[in-house]
Amino acid sequence: MQKNYIMAPGPTPVPEDVLLEIAKPIIHHRTNQYQEIFKKANEGLKYIFKTSNDIFTFASSGTGAMEAATVNLLSKGDKAIVVRGGKFGERFDEICKAYGIETIPIDVEWGKAVDPADIKKRLNENKGVKAVFATLCETSTGTKNDIEGIAGIVKSTNAALVVDAVSGLGADDLRTDEWGVDVVCSGSQKGMMLPPGLAFLSASKKAFDMMSKSDLPKYYFDLKAYKKSLDKNDVPWTPAVGLVRGLCKSMDMIKAEGIDNVLARHLRLAEATRDAVENLGLDLFSSSPSNAVTAVKVPDGVDGQALVKTMRNKYGVTIAGGQGHVKGKIFRIAHLGYMIEFDTLSAISALEIVLKEMGYKFKVGSGVGAALESFTTQKKSSRPVNV
Ligand SMILES: *Cc1c(COP(=O)(O)O)cnc(C)c1O
Repeated sequence: MQKNYIMAPGPTPVPEDVLLEIAKPIIHHRTNQYQEIFKKANEGLKYIFKTSNDIFTFASSGTGAMEAATVNLLSKGDKAIVVRGGKFGERFDEICKAYGIETIPIDVEWGKAVDPADIKKRLNENKGVKAVFATLCETSTGTKNDIEGIAGIVKSTNAALVVDAVSGLGADDLRTDEWGVDVVCSGSQKGMMLPPGLAFLSASKKAFDMMSKSDLPKYYFDLKAYKKSLDKNDVPWTPAVGLVRGLCKSMDMIKAEGIDNVLARHLRLAEATRDAVENLGLDLFSSSPSNAVTAVKVPDGVDGQALVKTMRNKYGVTIAGGQGHVKGKIFRIAHLGYMIEFDTLSAISALEIVLKEMGYKFKVGSGVGAALESFTTQKKSSRPVNV
């Protein structure tokens, strides 16, 4: 018998209560019943995004929100700064280019966080930049960027700060209003504990002002249509009714735990994972590790792609490999969404078993032991409050 554990940084496991909610019969969306659900969904999203800005929900994957941000804020001939420190930073660059936006890339070595001072420098050198695109958690490298620091710089300029928080939301702290992030993009299948299929976008006053002038082509993602409907607690097109229903349920769970406790849980699992792999003699890939996913360097003599494949095919534990030029060179273990200590311990156990089979030399149990040690001697920062 094989039991499956999905430990990749998206899609992530979905709680039973959320699955049952999604399984309910479909209701019509032009009804009071749906409007109640939609209202609740919007309130919950604001709580998790830590914002009072409007949040729009699309029936798309997370990339849809990234495209929506681009086409709604920018206009033909605009310039934008794009932080490229991994696959997802590159995606913003590709979306901008697809719409003819001139990008000013800041290339960051994979595994490193961008230095906010570099953004300041580029903004000073390039007057008239309309947007800065950055990533909270660069999932491809397991790296957290200093969004607070970046926002502090962008805030006083005419540019809007657009943050991809698809994997970071609910794992790495993001204070949309307090820090002044103009647009936050996210998706359902990571920290929100839902299946893939929903994307979210929050927009500040600065973002709305830019939207009113934007002339890039758009139709499905035209936020003017969404805004007009949202003001009547309505949606322009048929929403993903079942998923939005599930969203209400998953957000009930997040609210019951408390968003800051959810973040502390992610920190707890991330710290244990980092301790475990380091105690196995492995090196972290990122110098600014995210609490959503831990990227680890594949040790010499081990086939990284075979490691990931064996964990999945032989033991049912799905972790992620490396993307792009780090393919086969790193593997990534998520601690994202509906996960607790025992999920992390399972992942580390499977990793140890497969490393052993592949001939890597270490003391069996040293990873699991370090994780247990970490869980039983929690640092104050990762301890839940009010429980
Ligand atoms: C998952 C992810 C996305 C969105 O990917 P989709 O496949 O379109 O949902 C975007 N950015 C980051 C950082 C992600 O981790």
